[in-house]
Amino acid sequence: MDYRGKKPIFAHKITTKMKQKRPFLLLFVMSFLLSCLFTEMRAQSFDQYFEDNTLRLDYVFAGNSSEQHIYLEQLYKQPRWAGRRSRLSEKFLNGNGQLTVRDHATQEVIYVWTFSTLFQEWLLEDEAKTLSRAFESSYNIPYPKAKVDVTVTLTDHHQQVTASLTHTIDPADILIRPIGDKGIPFYYVWKGGQKAGKPEKSRASRRYEATEFDPFEDVNVAECIDFAILAEGYTEQQMGKFYADCERAVDALFAWEPFASLKDRFNVVAVAAPSLEAGPSVPHRGVWKETASNTHYDTFYSQRYLTSQDMHTIYDLLSGVPFEHIMVLVNSDTYGGGGIYNQITFATSDHPTFREVFVHEFGHSYAGLADEYAYDDMDTEWYPADVEPWEPNVTTLKDFASKWADLMPEGQPIPTPLDPNVPDFRQARENPDALAKLNAATQVVGVFEGAGYQSKGCYRPAQECRMKINEVQDFCPVCARAIRLITDFYTSVAPR
Ligand SMILES: [Zn+2]
Repeated sequence: MDYRGKKPIFAHKITTKMKQKRPFLLLFVMSFLLSCLFTEMRAQSFDQYFEDNTLRLDYVFAGNSSEQHIYLEQLYKQPRWAGRRSRLSEKFLNGNGQLTVRDHATQEVIYVWTFSTLFQEWLLEDEAKTLSRAFESSYNIPYPKAKVDVTVTLTDHHQQVTASLTHTIDPADILIRPIGDKGIPFYYVWKGGQKAGKPEKSRASRRYEATEFDPFEDVNVAECIDFAILAEGYTEQQMGKFYADCERAVDALFAWEPFASLKDRFNVVAVAAPSLEAGPSVPHRGVWKETASNTHYDTFYSQRYLTSQDMHTIYDLLSGVPFEHIMVLVNSDTYGGGGIYNQITFATSDHPTFREVFVHEFGHSYAGLADEYAYDDMDTEWYPADVEPWEPNVTTLKDFASKWADLMPEGQPIPTPLDPNVPDFRQARENPDALAKLNAATQVVGVFEGAGYQSKGCYRPAQECRMKINEVQDFCPVCARAIRLITDFYTSVAPR
C-alpha cells in the first residue's frame, strides 16, 4: 500500500503492561493442563507432516487487468522453520491471495498462508488495461515429509478467484536446490523481549562463518515471530549506521501499544546486506543506484511509493536467516515507504517520520490493516459496496457485524459524524493540547465515512488512527485488537 499520509510531529506515550490476575487456583491448574494438551496436539500435527526446515517457493505472477496467470519458477530448501507450528490449516485473514498445501495422499489441508501482492495493486492501475507485466513473489512453507499438492490462488477485489495454479512437490526431488548462508552477516537486535546488544565491530565487517559461533543460541525461533530487517542502500562501511537504525526501528515498534505488550513474542534479526552505492534509486530525480534489493521510489509513478520488484533477490539475501516477516530498511532521508500484507515492508531510515511510517507500514504487512485515509479524487474503487473487505479496520457495511460492531459505544450513530472538537492535524503540530485531543480521538470507536482511499462507501473505525495520519501515535482500538489477535494466531496463544 502506498503511504501518502501527512508529516507528523513527535509525541510519545508510555504504556505499562497490565499484569494478568489469576485469583483462582483451580482456574490456574485447568489452564495449565489445557495448555499442556494444546502444546502436545500442536507438536504432533506439525511433526506428522513437516520437518524443521523451510521450502521456499518462487513464483511469477503475470498478466493484465483482464487475465492473470501464475508460474512456478524455482524451489529451494533451507535450514530451520521459523513460522507457526499450530493452527496450520487455518487462515486468519483472507488477503488477496492464498497458498494452500495439501497432503498428496489424503488431500487433507495441512498448511495455509494468505498474502497480498504488488502485482494485484498494479492491476488497478491504468497501465494494466493495455499492458501485460510480470511480478516476482516468494513464499516460505514448512518442509513437507511426504508429497504435497500446493495451490496458489489470486483473488480480485470482489474476492473472486482470478488465477490458480496447483502443482505437486516431492520433497525428495533432486532439483530442489539447497540454500543456506550466503555469507551475509546477520545479528539479532531483539530476542524474545530483550535487546540483544550491539554486534561487535569486527563481526559486522567480516563475513559470517557458520562454524565460528551459533547465531541461534538462545533464540526461540520456534515460538516467537521472526522479523528480519534487511539493509538496503547501506555500503559495507555504513553497517554501523545500519545496526543503529535497526535499534531505532525496534524502539519505535515496541514503544507503542499494542506492540509494547507483545514485545516478548518477537525476535528481530538485522541482515547486513551491503550495497555498492548508498541510498535507493529516486527515478523522479533521475537517480539510479546499485543496491542490494533494487528498491526505488515512484512505484506506479507515485513519488512516495518505495518498493522493489526483485522479491526473489530479497529472499536470496535472507537465505539462511529464519524469518517470517520482512522489512527492507532503506538508507534514505526522502519520505516514502510501502507495506504489503504477509509480503514485505519498506521504510526509510532518516526521514523525521521514520518511526511513524515504519509502524504504519508494518501495520499493513503484519496485520493486514488497510489505510484509513481517503482521497477526494480517487477514481479506482478499491472496496466495492457488494463485498465486505477482508481487512479488519475498514467496512463497506455489507457485513459490519463481522467487524467492530461489538466495540461500538451504545447509541453511536452509523455513519458517525465527525467530532468538530477534534483539531486538525496541522494545529496539532504546533500545539501540545491540540495534539492530546487529536490522539484522544483515536480511542473513540464509530463508523466514519472515508477510508481505503475512498471518500464514499468505505468506513473507518475512528476519526484518527495510526493507519490514517502520522500525527497520532496510537492505533485505534479496532486496529490494536487486530494486531493482538494476529499475534496470538502466529504464536499459538488462545485469543484473549
Ligand atoms: Zn485504526
